[in-house]
Amino acid sequence: MDFKKSSRSIRLRTRLILYSTLVILLVMALTIVLVEKRQSETIQEEAQKRGVTMARHLAAVSTNALLTYNYVVLKQSAERVVLEEDVLYVIIHDKEDKVAAYTQHDEKQGMILADDVSQKATRAEDPLIQPVLYGEKDVRVLDISIPVYIKESQEKWGTIRIGLSLEGMSSQILKTRLNLLLLGGLAIVLGILGSIFFARRITRPISRLVETTIAAAKGDLEQIIDIQTGDEIEELGENFNHMIEQIRLHRKELEDHLRQITSLKAYNDHILSSMTNGLITINMDGKIVTLNEMAERILKKDREKMEGSFLEKSLGESHPLFLLLNGTLSSGKGIFHSEIELKENGEVLYLTVSTSPLTDGEGKKIGVLAVFEDITGLKALEEKLRQADRLAALGTLSAGLAHEVKNPLSAIKTFVQLLPKKLENPSFMEKFNITVPREIDRINHLVEDLLELTRRRVRPFAALDVNALILQVVDLHGEEMKKKQIFFDDHLDKTLPQIQGDAEMLYRAFSNLVINAIQAMPNGGSLRISSVLRDSEYPELRITFSDTGMGMDAETAKNIFNPFFTTKDKGVGLGMALTRKIIEDHQGTIEVTSEKEKGTIFILRIPVIKISNCQQ
Ligand code: ADP
Ligand code: MG
Repeated sequence: MDFKKSSRSIRLRTRLILYSTLVILLVMALTIVLVEKRQSETIQEEAQKRGVTMARHLAAVSTNALLTYNYVVLKQSAERVVLEEDVLYVIIHDKEDKVAAYTQHDEKQGMILADDVSQKATRAEDPLIQPVLYGEKDVRVLDISIPVYIKESQEKWGTIRIGLSLEGMSSQILKTRLNLLLLGGLAIVLGILGSIFFARRITRPISRLVETTIAAAKGDLEQIIDIQTGDEIEELGENFNHMIEQIRLHRKELEDHLRQITSLKAYNDHILSSMTNGLITINMDGKIVTLNEMAERILKKDREKMEGSFLEKSLGESHPLFLLLNGTLSSGKGIFHSEIELKENGEVLYLTVSTSPLTDGEGKKIGVLAVFEDITGLKALEEKLRQADRLAALGTLSAGLAHEVKNPLSAIKTFVQLLPKKLENPSFMEKFNITVPREIDRINHLVEDLLELTRRRVRPFAALDVNALILQVVDLHGEEMKKKQIFFDDHLDKTLPQIQGDAEMLYRAFSNLVINAIQAMPNGGSLRISSVLRDSEYPELRITFSDTGMGMDAETAKNIFNPFFTTKDKGVGLGMALTRKIIEDHQGTIEVTSEKEKGTIFILRIPVIKISNCQQ
C-alpha cells in the first residue's frame, strides 16, 4: 500500500489558514463598512447641527432688523456669520422673499431669487435642509434655511439661509476611513499570523499522528505518540497508543499461535513420514489431501503428483484402494483390516486396509482416511510356516506309523524265523499261535484307525441318545475305575432330546476321552461328565469331560490332536485325532483346556441338526 502523508497535512494547514483568513477578512470588512457608515453619519449630523445652530442664532439676532427692514444690520450680521468655518454663503430674505442680505453678492439685494432651492427655502414654513452644488467648482453644500417668526404670531417675517460647505466634512470622513483601513489591515495581518500559528499548532500533532499511523501500518508497532495539547488530539493520541498496544498484543498472540501451528505441523509431518504404514486422506470431493512416504513407497507413485489430484484419476477407477475409500466416502462407515490384492507388472502385493471417515472439530464430515500395510512378506512367511507345519505333521505321522508297525512286525519276524526249527516244539507253537495273530491284529487295528481318520463318512445319521452312549462307556470301564479309585461325577441332563448322529462313532469318541481320563489319573480322582442343551436359533449340545488328573502343559495340549502324538510309553497317539475327526463329522468342535497337575477339561459342541442337513 502507498501511504501518502505530506500533501494531505499541508492541505489541512492551508485550508485552516485560508478559512480563518477569509473569516477575518469578512469580519474586518464588515466592521470597517459599519464603523465607516456610523462615523460618516455622525460627522454629517454634527455638521448639520452646527449649521442649524448658526442659522437659528442668526435668525434670533436678525428678527428686529427684519421687522424694520434694516438691510444694513442684516448685512452686517450675515458678514459676521460667513466668517465661520465652512460657511460659504449667508442669505437673508425679507417678508416679501426679496434678498435683504447676500454675502459677496450685494448686487442681488432687493431681488427675488428664482432658482429652485431659493424658491423652496423661502416657501418653507419649517426649517429645511437641501443639498446643493455651489459655485463654479460645484462644491457640495448644505443649504440650511430657517423661517423667522415673530413671537406670538404665526406670521413669517423672513428666511435665514446658510450655505454650509461639506468639503471639510468629506476630508474628515476620508481621514477616518483611512484610519479604519489602516487599523483593519493591521488586524487582518495579525489575524492571519495568528491563524497560521494556530493552524500549525493544530496540524503539527496531527502530522505526528499521521506519521506514526503510517509507521504502524507499515508494521512498526514500537511507536508511541506523546502529544500534550490537552484537547481531543491528545485524546486521539492516547487512544492510538492504546490501539497500538492492543495490536501489538494480538500480533504477539498470533505469532505464538503460528509458532505452535508450525511446530505441530512439523510434528505431524514427522509422524506421517516415520509411520511404517501407508496413509492417504481424501476430502469430500475425492481429492487427495495427504499421502505419506510409506504410501508413496507401497503404491510406487509420485507423491508430488498425487497430492491435490483426484484419487480416482491417480489410482484408476478399479483400484481396490480407491474402491474402499470411495465406499467409506459414500457410506460414512469405516472398514477394519480388509485384505486386498494389488497386481502390478506381474507382481502381487497384499495389503491390509482400514478406513474411517474424517470429521472436523464440529463433527462435520471432511473426508476419509485410509491406513494400509504391506503384508506380502508376512503372507509368504505364513505360507512357508504352513508348509513346514504340514511337513512336520507328516514327519510325526510317518515316525509314529513306522514305530507302531515295527514292533509287531519284528515280533512276527522272530517267530517266523524260528518256525522251521521249532515246528515240533508244542510250547513254541502255542506261543506262536497266540502272539503272531495278536501282533497282526495290532497292525490291522492301526491300519483301520488310520483309514478311519482319513475316510469320508459314509454311514447315514440316525436318532440317538447321547446320555445313554456316555453311560455305556462309563459302565464298560466301571470295574477299572473302581479299582483305581476314580469317582464318576454324573452331571448329565436327563431331559436331553435325541440328536441325529452316528452312534458307533460317537461311542468311540467318548471311549477315547474316558480312557485318556482314566490313564491320566493313576492315583485316583474324579471324572465329571456333563451334558446340556444350549437352546437358541442354532441349538447345540455341549458335553464336557473334566478330570482331576495329571493335566498337560501348553505345548502338549497344542499337539494332542495330531495323529501319533503321544506322551505315553505304550500309547499310539491316534485317539484324540480320531475323536476330533468324529466330532467334526458331526459339524461340531472340540476344545481342550488343561493345567499341569490339576486336570483337563474337554468341551464338545455338537449342533442339533436335522437329517436332511447332515446327509452328504
Ligand atoms: P494316546 O492315548 O495313545 O497317547 P491319544 O491321542 O489318546 O493318544 O492322546 C494323545 C495324548 O494326549 C496323550 O498321550 C496325552 O499326553 C494327552 N492326553 C489326552 N487326554 C488327556 C487327559 N485327559 N489328561 C492328560 N493328558 C491327556
Ligand atoms: Mg488315548
